[in-house]
Amino acid sequence: MGKVKGFMEFQRALPSDREPLERIKDWREFHLEMPDGELQKQGARCMDCGTPYCHTGFLLSGMASGCPIHNLIPEWNDYIYKGFWHEAFDRLMKTNNFPEFTGRVCPAPCEGSCVLGIIEPPVTIKNIECSIIEHAFAEGWVEPKTIALRTGKHVAVVGSGPAGLACADQLNKAGHSVTVFERDDRIGGLMMYGIPNMKLDKTEVVGRRISIMEAEGVTFMASTEVGADYPADKLLEEFDAVVLCTGATRPRDLAVEGRTFQGVHFAMDFLRSSTKALLDATSPAITAEGKDVIVIGGGDTGTDCVATSLRQGCRSVVQLEIMPRPPLDRQADNPWPEWPKIYKVDYGQEEAAAVQNGDPRRYAVMTKKFLDAGTGALTAVEVSDVEWVNDEGRFIPRPVSGTEEILPAQLVLLAMGFIGPEESLLQQLQITQDARSNIKADEQSYKTNKQGIFAAGDARRGQSLVVWAINEGRAAARECDRYLMGTTCLP
Ligand SMILES: Cc1cc2nc3c(=O)[nH]c(=O)nc-3n(C[C@H](O)[C@H](O)[C@H](O)COP(=O)(O)OP(=O)(O)OC[C@H]3O[C@@H](n4cnc5c(N)ncnc54)[C@H](O)[C@@H]3O)c2cc1C
Ligand code: SF4
Repeated sequence: MGKVKGFMEFQRALPSDREPLERIKDWREFHLEMPDGELQKQGARCMDCGTPYCHTGFLLSGMASGCPIHNLIPEWNDYIYKGFWHEAFDRLMKTNNFPEFTGRVCPAPCEGSCVLGIIEPPVTIKNIECSIIEHAFAEGWVEPKTIALRTGKHVAVVGSGPAGLACADQLNKAGHSVTVFERDDRIGGLMMYGIPNMKLDKTEVVGRRISIMEAEGVTFMASTEVGADYPADKLLEEFDAVVLCTGATRPRDLAVEGRTFQGVHFAMDFLRSSTKALLDATSPAITAEGKDVIVIGGGDTGTDCVATSLRQGCRSVVQLEIMPRPPLDRQADNPWPEWPKIYKVDYGQEEAAAVQNGDPRRYAVMTKKFLDAGTGALTAVEVSDVEWVNDEGRFIPRPVSGTEEILPAQLVLLAMGFIGPEESLLQQLQITQDARSNIKADEQSYKTNKQGIFAAGDARRGQSLVVWAINEGRAAARECDRYLMGTTCLP
């Protein structure tokens, strides 16, 4: 275990972030590194509690509790405490193909279920994970490996997000020849064109891993949309199996008056244009520069819009959330080890607070309509407070009359979640969808209704997290390998 009574001796500590007012001037990552000695103390806080919920990874009340890929957390905490970095790295790679991604962007359900978290702030699991893999890269331990034996089987993976990448990595390691199709011009899915650069560097982190996979033999076909640039019916002619990892990218819309005004955009269109402009060294197609921005949606995507707007030089930014503000501490109906539904300040809000003197979020607010000055261009948004009322067992928002307010806005970003996968390819392949419009494939076999076609990631489970996508990509690879070979050694 970590140090006996280490959790009593050492306080939870994270590496400091770059100062908000400094970091909004560029697009570089904002986390700094922690010195090895300090990190050892953080590893020492692990109690090796005997029932490590942190690595169990299951759904409790609909939210992840513990690590969905079952990282062997107490084991690597112990190695870090003792300074055995290579052993920690070996342990980490047993369960996670891409710790450099999860170590940066995972919301860390492991920490929400850490047993120490019942009485003290939890172990800094996510930061330790990130430090282990970055240490391994720095030492030159993460190198392309030669695949000893090829099976002669060919697999197509459609979509290059974390599910597609994890799936491709596992199948390649099992000896199959893998081709990953991606309709975008760059590989990475939402890790490339969704999550912004300051959270996950596109060249130094995402690109670094793609280069390793390429060197290990995975073929990437960017700018190739299956079902448009590459005929869907050719897939099963040219490949022995197919894994659909196409994501769940249909955004939820807001059907209110003025929706079609110039200046009202989906969050993803804004974030995508921002990252593309950064990487291509051009100007973004949609910009917040000099504008009053209203982000509708209080989740992670909304936070990324706030942070991106600040970096583009917006005049002001407000983030609207229809739900009430969460409590500061766990409530009785949200006990450990459930995901803690509490008020959190993420990087975007921290930056907005530094610029505007306050949290940009406004809670329990609904958008009533968009306004223009007769030109078709957005000038303002009418909002009102809501109260949540019980309507025959269902809680619904009801506008509070007399609270209407006009907020100036020249740019509105709709960040209200996603409603399912895009359907064109699924229809061409005649893939059955479930009641939520996701690809129907059960969680054991990952098989669709079509022989030889599997599905994983957001396309199967609905919009989720990078860590769940990795979990699904690995599991679908295992089942695909079993289908191809009759047996499998993949975990
Ligand atoms: C703005 C934003 C921020 C987020 N932040 C976080 C975060 O901080 N932490 C976290 O854990 N999760 C975050 N998420 C969620 C996370 O990114 C997703 O859950 C995850 O990327 C899903 O992985 P995936 O591989 O299933 O799909 P995706 O990443 O969506 O990848 C699917 C890929 O398939 C491609 N594709 C689709 N159809 C075709 C076709 N016919 N032919 C070829 N290619 C095709 C798409 O272009 C896309 O690149 C965020 C999501 C968004 C939108
Ligand atoms: S992948 Fe996420 S849940 Fe798992 S150990 Fe890392 S931060 Fe925790």
